Amino acid sequence: MACMFDDRLHQLEARHQLRRMRLVESAPGCMVTLEGRQVILMASNDYLGLATDARLKQAAIAATERFGVGAGASRLISGTLRPHQDLEAALAKFKGTEAALVFGSGYLANIGLIPALIGSEGLILADRLCHASLIDGCRLSGAELRVFRHRDTTQLGSLLARRTPRRDTLIVTDGVFSMDGDLAPLPELISLVERYAARLLVDDAHGTGVLGAQGRGTLEHFGVEGRQPFHMGTLSKAFGTSGAYVAGPESLIRYLVSTARSFIYTTAPPPATAAAALAALQIIQTEPERRARLWANRDRFYSGLQAMGYRLAESRSPIIPVLIGETEKTLALADRLLELGVYAPAIRPPTVPKGTGRIRTTVTSEHTADHLNIVLAAFGQAGREFGLI
Ligand code: PMP
Repeated sequence: MACMFDDRLHQLEARHQLRRMRLVESAPGCMVTLEGRQVILMASNDYLGLATDARLKQAAIAATERFGVGAGASRLISGTLRPHQDLEAALAKFKGTEAALVFGSGYLANIGLIPALIGSEGLILADRLCHASLIDGCRLSGAELRVFRHRDTTQLGSLLARRTPRRDTLIVTDGVFSMDGDLAPLPELISLVERYAARLLVDDAHGTGVLGAQGRGTLEHFGVEGRQPFHMGTLSKAFGTSGAYVAGPESLIRYLVSTARSFIYTTAPPPATAAAALAALQIIQTEPERRARLWANRDRFYSGLQAMGYRLAESRSPIIPVLIGETEKTLALADRLLELGVYAPAIRPPTVPKGTGRIRTTVTSEHTADHLNIVLAAFGQAGREFGLI
């Protein structure tokens, strides 16, 4: 048995697909203690620095004192705790929908939501670069899954035009693409949905709290909230906590409570997490200056890399991927950056398409000008050594 896995591990290693976790022994802020060294973290999705915010910690502690640590069972089994219900009511109000439902993670939300939205008779058209959890949800639904070229609404339009008329069809996309940082063309996608009587699922994991003047996400950014009845997003990125939500009409939410297997057959998230997410939502709504700092940092870092001559993905968000290509070179560059005090991970196939290895950097509102200068200097040095710039 052990031997079989050793062989498989060797094969993964030979293909540069062996993954390894690195130990962090400090709070995941801008500076972290990684394997015993202080480095600047350019990899967190905690865009607004809320994971370490004192108010979230306090909310989590208070909820733990009152409700205990674990929820005890599924919400349908042992009853639903107040923090989950309060969070859902606040999320629905924020998103301008009738209701919302919280899941244990974004992954769980997607694998529960998609099979509830569409069955095996249906057709799913998914952007080629949409998140793995969406793809897994699509597969679980049993619907026919077809993939369209990244952000290519012309190809999507012809797939819609050629399908069996009136076949139940769901289009699936990220709002902000997690490994590229670009945005889905939501106005065009929604126009196609309206024209062909299809439906659209937007995964706004990286848009919520980040995009739109009020931080409501990619739909707000494009001014199309009124044309899209539901969407999902996570509480694990800008919210600084964990979990996810689906926001939409009450009928959808009630249907999910009775059918989404990843809601029904799993223990509710800890009450502390829900209470912290509610505190995060209040901050997201009342401290727009965090978003302003985030975007200023993002623009500064993006222009710095661009001025050096790096090849960057078409990012329109705080996710800024530096395109390298070959996996081996991408991994070596990430190692070199780490030696220079910068932790930004190498992203390689199968997470991204073959030949598109990249260093995925993310900036947050909490990076200081000094942090970003140090990181840019490290990219400058490593880039010259590797002949990239
Ligand atoms: N959707 C997208 C677009 C994501 O990037 C992620 C996580 N990185 C998820 C869903 C899954 O969310 P979670 O980490 O909360 O499971």
